[in-house]
Amino acid sequence: MKIVTIVGARPQFIKAAAGSYQIRKRHEEILVHTGQHFEDNMSKIFFDEMKIPKPDYNLGISGGSHAKMTANMLVKIEEVLLKETPNALLVYGDTNSTLAGALAAVKLNIPVFHVEAGNRLGTLNNPEEINRITTDHLSTLNFCATTDALKKLEKEGLGDRSYFVGNIMYDSFLMFSSKPWQEHNIYNFNNERITMPNDFYYMTCHRQENTYDDVPLTEILMAMNSLDAPTIYAVHPRNKERARRICAKQGFRNIILVQPVGYCDSIHLIKRAKKIVTDSGGLQCEAFYAGVQCVFVFNYAVWPETMVNNRNQLAKADHNDILDKLSKSQMIDPLYQPFGNGHTAEEICRIMEDYNERERL
Ligand code: UDP
Repeated sequence: MKIVTIVGARPQFIKAAAGSYQIRKRHEEILVHTGQHFEDNMSKIFFDEMKIPKPDYNLGISGGSHAKMTANMLVKIEEVLLKETPNALLVYGDTNSTLAGALAAVKLNIPVFHVEAGNRLGTLNNPEEINRITTDHLSTLNFCATTDALKKLEKEGLGDRSYFVGNIMYDSFLMFSSKPWQEHNIYNFNNERITMPNDFYYMTCHRQENTYDDVPLTEILMAMNSLDAPTIYAVHPRNKERARRICAKQGFRNIILVQPVGYCDSIHLIKRAKKIVTDSGGLQCEAFYAGVQCVFVFNYAVWPETMVNNRNQLAKADHNDILDKLSKSQMIDPLYQPFGNGHTAEEICRIMEDYNERERL
């Protein structure tokens, strides 16, 4: 098959590291980077470090309103599809790049394969949820990371084109977490390499809901500042000024603000952290894979499978609630593996190939 794959944001590069590696064993892949994340430490570092093939197209589209970004992507992706005439289009996750790719392809009668389908929060007040629902319903094949996601799609009438395959991020985690962590490349905002503390907490926080003004982020940082070890907070570029201002104004000296880190550094920070506080869907799963306890600051459980035995707990953006959740202990049942066996990309390829065989008949 000739497959056009669309990526645009950090978690999609990480998924494509596992996906492209498998796809290219037997198929031709055209990789399209929409440009949604473009800074070197949000994009290039992942391509270099994870040996993701160089994109065939970089559409250079980022910023602006959701409508503007999605519309610009739609136009440019359609141009690529008309030129390349692929057998199928593959999209990951739930960003505007995912939605634009699916919509452009389906209007050209190109089958859409959606990896990480079926996740639902149950509210349309979340931009990613809108992208997920729309993409799932436009897709020819839906690949679900959990059986819970598959059940959600069955309820929506999509059962006959949906499959449980496991979480492709687990493939990437296994591929890269076994590599030794010889030296880190973690820099503060003065471009100085940080000295790693022996004990630390690892934090990321960039959701619109937690960073739209100073109040929620101040609450989260207040909790982290009062802990028994420093927190390494890898700050998303769009929250840099806010995070620095809050820490300076509040005198939070127990927080080490760092620039976004590469994937290997992120994985090794997860593995070595005392505990993790995040609002990232991907990072909470990686904490689960690593067996490190996590507190997820959001109003909804994004990966309910992780929320067992205090392994991942929901907290409001309230310092008392976060500290309360951090004070609890977790219990790990090694037999509980809801995200598959780390061979998700192979399973996806197998199902795509079956589909291709059927369609040819
Ligand atoms: N991550 C990273 N560097 C960082 C912060 C996160 O490599 O500075 C990784 C993290 O380990 C996970 C992924 O990026 O694999 C999560 O991406 P993000 O938080 O942007 O997306 P979300 O999970 O919210 O969709």
